[in-house]
Order: sequence, then C-alpha cells, then structure tokens
Amino acid sequence: MKTIGLIGGMSWESTSTYYNLINEGIKQNLGGLHSAKIAMYSVDFDEIEKLQRQGGWQETASLLGDAAKSVEAAGADFLLICTNTMHKVADEIGSSVSIPLLHIADATAQQLSKDEMKRVGLLGTRFTMEQDFYKKRLHENHGIEVLTPEEADRQVMHDIIYKELCLGIINDESRELVLKIIDSLRKQGAECIILGCTEIPLLVKQKHTEVPLYDTTAIHAGAAVNYALLND
Ligand code: GLU
Repeated sequence: MKTIGLIGGMSWESTSTYYNLINEGIKQNLGGLHSAKIAMYSVDFDEIEKLQRQGGWQETASLLGDAAKSVEAAGADFLLICTNTMHKVADEIGSSVSIPLLHIADATAQQLSKDEMKRVGLLGTRFTMEQDFYKKRLHENHGIEVLTPEEADRQVMHDIIYKELCLGIINDESRELVLKIIDSLRKQGAECIILGCTEIPLLVKQKHTEVPLYDTTAIHAGAAVNYALLND
C-alpha cells in the first residue's frame, strides 16, 4: 500500500471526513485491522482564509508548497490538497514536490464522465464558482459544461461555507437555501450538482434531493484509496 499525503485543515471539519473515508475505504478493501498509511500536514485555516480575502494567493502557494514538502519528507508517495478552493494554486504546490498530485477536479470529472454527465451545476466558494482554475479545467480537459448560481446565490453559498460549515455549524435553514439554489440550477439545465467545496456534504446529502449530487470529498478520498492500492 502506498502512503497517502494530505494537506488538510481547510477546514479541519472536512479533513476529518477525508481521514475517516480513506480509512474506511482501505478497511473495506483489505479487511481486518488494515488502515491507511497517511502523512498529513494540517494548516491553521485562519492564516489561509485571511490570505484568500486579501488576494495573497502567492503566499498561500508558498505556505502550502512548504506543507507539501513536509508531507513528501514524511514518506508520502502522492499528494492530495483537501479543499477545492486551494486548487487555485495546485500547479505551484505540485511543482514544489516530486510526488504526483491527485487533482480534485480531475477525480470528480472522471466520475462525471463515467456517468455521462455533460452539463453540471457547480457549488463552492466564490473563488471556485467564479474563477477559471476549476471550471476551465472541467471544460477544457474533460469537455464538461459548468453552470453556476446567480451572483446573490453565490454569495449565500460562500457565506454558508465560511460562516457556518467551516466552523462546524450545521443549520437547517441554510440547507433549505442550498436546496433552492440546487433546484434553480436544475431548472437552468444542470443534470447534476458538484458539491465543489469539501464542507458542503456536511450540510447537504443525497437523501435531501432527487438531483444527483457529486460529493467531491468522497470522490477525492475514494480516488486516494484506489491510487494507494492500485499503484502498489
Ligand atoms: N474546503 C473548502 C473547499 O473545498 C473551502 C475552504 C477553503 O477555502 O479551502 O473549497
């Protein structure tokens, strides 16, 4: 089994889900007392979030690049960045180490393509919904058309992520708001919804809607399990 490298803490609420899902996946595959080999560097999210707001992306890249180096030095064979948003600087982080990076948008796109989904709605932080680093990758590398909510709804989603989910607050009213946003994306022609922020699955689960949901945390964790076992 390969050692999985995780850069976590963004937020730790979803990193703990990664840790659980990866260990569950290894246990399911290997049984008994087996558990995942993991080397993790977990950051202080307060530092990252401030830099995001100030547009200090270069600083986040060097901070997370250093985290990646630590994870590599600790014996990781490959690397996951446990957040969609910080894939904005995935190239810089990836180039600071010699181990491969498992990109969250590629793992998600592979699942979408397998299910023949071509037109998808994307929920996430404003950075993920509005900037090119995620949508363009899905479109140009995987031929997937991406729809995003209108401006006011993007702000609602963004605020729920930073003011509630990253703080461990799960609010029924917020779930209703997100389900309305999902419905309006569906009406615009989305065949399914990418939960493109690793905390959204803490709030909205498949049982809450008939619209197919793609949980990027679960997909990314599952891809890590497969990679750790298949590339052994
Ligand atoms: N975990 C979130 C994501 O998947 C948001 C927190 C962050 O800014 O990294 O985008």
